[in-house]
Amino acid sequence: MNLRLCNNSAVENRAAFAYNEKGLAVEFRGFSPRLGKAHMKRICSLLLAAVLSLSVFGCRSFDAVAASFVGLLPSASAAHTSTEHAHTDLSFAELSDDASELPLEIARTKELLFRIDAGELCGTAAQRNLEARIDAFHRLRTAASVAYVHYCENIADDAQRESYERLSASLNELGSLLIEAELALSRDPALSELYDEQTTAKIEKEASLHNPCVQPLIERERTLIGAYDALASLTVTHTGRTWTRDAILSDPSLDYETFLTLYRLYRHTYNERAGEIYLELVKTRNETARALGFDSYVEYGYAAYERDYTPDDALRLAQTVKRELVPVFCELQEGFYDATMRLGCGTFRREETLSSVRSAILALLPEFETPWDYMVSHGMASFDASGTRMEGSFTTYFETYGAPFLFTSWDDSYDMPTTVLHEFGHYAGYYLNGIQRMQSSDPLDLAEIDSQGLELLAVTQYNKIYGAWSDAARLANLVLALYAVVTGCMEDEFQQFAYRTDSVTTQMLNAEYEALAKAYGLYDMGLTGESWTEISHTFRSPMYYISYATSMLGALQLLERAEKDLDGAVQAYRTILMRPVGATFQATLRDAGLSDPFDGNTVSALAKRIAALCEAGSFRERNSL
Ligand SMILES: [Zn+2]
Repeated sequence: MNLRLCNNSAVENRAAFAYNEKGLAVEFRGFSPRLGKAHMKRICSLLLAAVLSLSVFGCRSFDAVAASFVGLLPSASAAHTSTEHAHTDLSFAELSDDASELPLEIARTKELLFRIDAGELCGTAAQRNLEARIDAFHRLRTAASVAYVHYCENIADDAQRESYERLSASLNELGSLLIEAELALSRDPALSELYDEQTTAKIEKEASLHNPCVQPLIERERTLIGAYDALASLTVTHTGRTWTRDAILSDPSLDYETFLTLYRLYRHTYNERAGEIYLELVKTRNETARALGFDSYVEYGYAAYERDYTPDDALRLAQTVKRELVPVFCELQEGFYDATMRLGCGTFRREETLSSVRSAILALLPEFETPWDYMVSHGMASFDASGTRMEGSFTTYFETYGAPFLFTSWDDSYDMPTTVLHEFGHYAGYYLNGIQRMQSSDPLDLAEIDSQGLELLAVTQYNKIYGAWSDAARLANLVLALYAVVTGCMEDEFQQFAYRTDSVTTQMLNAEYEALAKAYGLYDMGLTGESWTEISHTFRSPMYYISYATSMLGALQLLERAEKDLDGAVQAYRTILMRPVGATFQATLRDAGLSDPFDGNTVSALAKRIAALCEAGSFRERNSL
């Protein structure tokens, strides 16, 4: 994640680059006062798109291996892993990443399944054996999460990436086998007390999502994702010279026209190559979904994320967002551009920023002092500057240690405070309510309110964090919040099209993406029909995006309430953060006193409120919301 404006001295007379999530430049270069107004407007739009895409895609907590198995094992096993609230005294450096026992555990679990099927093992003896296997699974999953953090700290190590990918695929296999064993034991009459009706229903649901029969397809999917990741080293040839992405972006001798030619060539080549991979991914995922009894991967994805709304509900929400929110979002672009220009002049150094963010958080939620201090004293966070680290940020949970871990790459830019606020919302949720996060299938939409809710409540404390830039930061972050809703709907609509269109081609996907970018007001801001291949979630975390929209519609309501009643808003956030095991998205919002995001009135009221806040500069003049 890089955006360098005023805080890069080389920038002033020459060039500024804006990168999207994967570090690909959007067409922005040259910040010369000689440029005409039309030119500037175009550049501003392109910059805006880049800045926007930087900010929402930061959190990848659910790409981490620990999170990809959330909810895999149902509550029958919960009693045996109840150590979540005991937070280890070990520091991160002392945690084990040894998962070498994994092949042996797979063999042991296969043997257990064989003996259950053959009638050699049943009742409590079988149950005890299964519990030992499940405990081992939790230990191995934790080791894999530690290994994932090590991999993220040095992604240049190909061997480490491949070993992590193998580990991830094997863990998936082990998890699927364990669910199959649980399903078998849930039908054992001798265990009917343990496996009551509700528990059995949960196991059956999990079994419908994870079945060892699709393991070869899962492995193929992981290989395709690896091929997509490897495109980071793609090169293009122009006038006899080979160019990497970094070379295009960092060569100061390129004039603007040559830069654009090269960048467009790069983007087009990237789109073609990534497009081919995606078509294979769509085919593989649809095959997986159909083998498990779903119509397409869209329905499978929604079920896997434990959503209590349907893909059609999401499409209806998308129509409302286009009608009500997109006009407000477009209207705010100019103010947003000014705000980010000012913020770009700020330098947010690590120690001072962490200290001011901590003060802001504790002013709202004093109980977050314990998780914050634990994180710092036990080294359960990595804030180093980038280099060979993975870009972006995430939070993961080492469940057998009861320890969350926060990962980001510090770059002194103005989005560091909001990145830390976002991730620390996840961190505190795991630390204070880890049992809920790991022992039930915690809905993704709620998990992102943990983070986005804290981000937006902290708007009321911006004087502590941003000082002189508070007003600019308020405006910028409100537009980014809208952007999360807008792109959440757009990317979901796009992916639904991809998985539900027979014989889909890259050209059809490019055309659809361009039409959607126009409908959502993002085309004029620099998105093109080819831009979709640069969004890694589409490849790595399918059907994830809508959760950014739904959770933000919850989080924005917290901000709206904070304006009138800060204590009430904080209390509503606590209700969401401390949700019970088995909580569902819409019911939890109701418990917190928030409106239903799928109700058109909720979106339209928020749009009016945001428009009013920004009208005639009134937003900027307010000291707090
Ligand atoms: Zn997040």
